[in-house]
Parts: sequence; C-alpha cells; structure tokens
Amino acid sequence: MNDFEKQIAAKSGDGLQSQKIETLQVNLGLLCNQRCNHCHLGASPDRKEVMEWPIMELVLEACKRAHCQLVDLTGGAPELNPNFRRFVRALCREGHRVQVRTNLTVLLEPGMEQMPEFLRRHRIRLVASMPCYLKENVCAQRGPGVYEKSVAAIKRLNALGYGYESFLPLTLVYNPGGPFLPPPQSALEEDYRRELARRFGIVFTHLLTITNMPLGRFRTELARQNKEQDYLQLLRMSFNPQTIGGLMCRRQLSVGWDGTLFDCDFNLALGLPVNHGAPDHIRFFKIGDLQRRRIVTGEHCFGCTAGLGSSCGGALV
Ligand code: SF4
Ligand code: SF4
Repeated sequence: MNDFEKQIAAKSGDGLQSQKIETLQVNLGLLCNQRCNHCHLGASPDRKEVMEWPIMELVLEACKRAHCQLVDLTGGAPELNPNFRRFVRALCREGHRVQVRTNLTVLLEPGMEQMPEFLRRHRIRLVASMPCYLKENVCAQRGPGVYEKSVAAIKRLNALGYGYESFLPLTLVYNPGGPFLPPPQSALEEDYRRELARRFGIVFTHLLTITNMPLGRFRTELARQNKEQDYLQLLRMSFNPQTIGGLMCRRQLSVGWDGTLFDCDFNLALGLPVNHGAPDHIRFFKIGDLQRRRIVTGEHCFGCTAGLGSSCGGALV
C-alpha cells in the first residue's frame, strides 16, 4: 500500500474504489499545435500518436453500453485527430452529450476555419485552457502569442453564441503558474469575468481551477529548478479528506489513444493502466467489471486531494 492509499484507507477503511462511470474521457492523441511547459502528457507538434478509427469504433460501442452522461474528448489537441469530425458526428448521432477540451489556439490553425461552426452545429460543450487573464502568465506557460490567439478564439466562439447560450457552454480552465495551489475557484472566476470583460469584452460560462500535477514537463521543470521535493511535500501536507468523495477517477474512465483504459488522464500520462482484475483495453470493455474497480494510485494522487481538491471538472470542495 503506497502512502496515498494509506491516507485513503485511514478515512474509508479500504483502497480507492470507483463507482458508476458517468464520464468516459477519450484521449484522441498526443499531437498538439502547442508545447506548453506544464503539459503533463508531453504533447507537441512532433508527437505522432493519434487514435485510429478502429479504436474509435470500439469507443462508440463502449459508449453505447456504458450509458455515460458525458463523453469528454481530450488530447493533445483533439481537433487535430484526422477523424475528429467523423467521430464527433458518430457520437452525436448516437445521442451522447459530448465535451471537447480545446486549447483555443488550434481553432486558428490552417484547416480549422470551419471548426467553430462545426462545434456549434453539434452543440459541443467546450472546456478551454486559459491559465490566467494576464498575458505574461499565459505566455510564460504556453508560449509567445498564445494569449492573443486565445482571446481571438474566444471572441470567435462568443460570436457564435458560446458563453451566451445555455446549450453552448464555454468553460475556462486556470492552472497555477508555478509550484503552488490554486486559489478558491469562485473568487477567481469573478476576477476572470471582470478582467476579460473589461479588457476584451469576452464572456464565458464557468471557470475551473486545476492543480498542476507533478508529472510530465511540469515535473521535469520542477526538478530542473530543484523544487520537486518541496512541491511533492506541499501536496502531501495539504491532503484534504473532504475531497475523497469527489475524486474524478471514482466516476470516470479514461481511454488512451491506443485503446488502453486508465483510471484517469494522469495515470495515462504515467502509463499506469487500470488493474486489480479490471479489463485494461477498450477491446475488452465490460461495464460490470469496470464500474466497481479498485483504482490504481500513486504519489501523484496527492495532487487531486490537496487543498480544495482538483479534477478535470475543477475544485472538489
Ligand atoms: S497542455 Fe494542452 S495545449 Fe499545452 S501542449 Fe499539452 S495538450 Fe497541448
Ligand atoms: S491522479 Fe487519478 S487516480 Fe489518482 S486520485 Fe487523481 S484522479 Fe484518482
């Protein structure tokens, strides 16, 4: 039993167990138009890994059997998968509620001119990275020019009704610019709302705060600055038992670009598939064996339970 499991067991008397799968998160690949220095997956324009159509067909079949409330498409930049539109159309035809995690700047790439209209037509919910309302903080994490392009993309989405219409939610995502925990989500949301409206006249639906996980490029950078152990200690010392009930792995399953099944996107980044007897590939998807599974954990899990908690859906308490 690792230290995280010991903490969980001290509160619940057992390891971490999943419940009903409400969300199927599908990673369409590691190809991305950006190369952010906090990316836990190491995505970049050089990555070749993308989900192929035969795996997407298996995902479609699994979605049908799982009756999930939400299919959450992520990457890399999911829009760059050559079969992205075909897959989204197929999911919508089956009646699934679909959400796309977009980095915004991809919407300005060549060949993406029609993508915002495509997303709108299919009523796709959008979750968009915008780690700060200040240019210097965004560019420091995500590269020069990303701030201006992100604002331009939000303006385009606003013009189509995103952030205004209830069926076109545009959720923004904040993550800290360094090895510290996010501030309270609702107060920061107000700051974002005020500053983005004042500076650019843009609107959004909600703000999510997400803790930087000690993984991928973020961890490499911490190690380079000799801050890795201090950050791990901060996460560990900030353990908040009230977050346990809301941990996303308890109601979510992640499908990797090659069809491997993971308890979450962070385990995907670490190459830690589901285990403890549950089927670990979409080919063997069996809802009964997956929805009450024992979750694979590690020291990185303290990133989800620190402070107000963190998940792909934001703070937990
Ligand atoms: S953080 Fe997102 S936008 Fe940045 S490189 Fe990773 S996948 Fe791409
Ligand atoms: S890192 Fe993944 S497995 Fe660990 S607590 Fe967070 S969501 Fe659950």
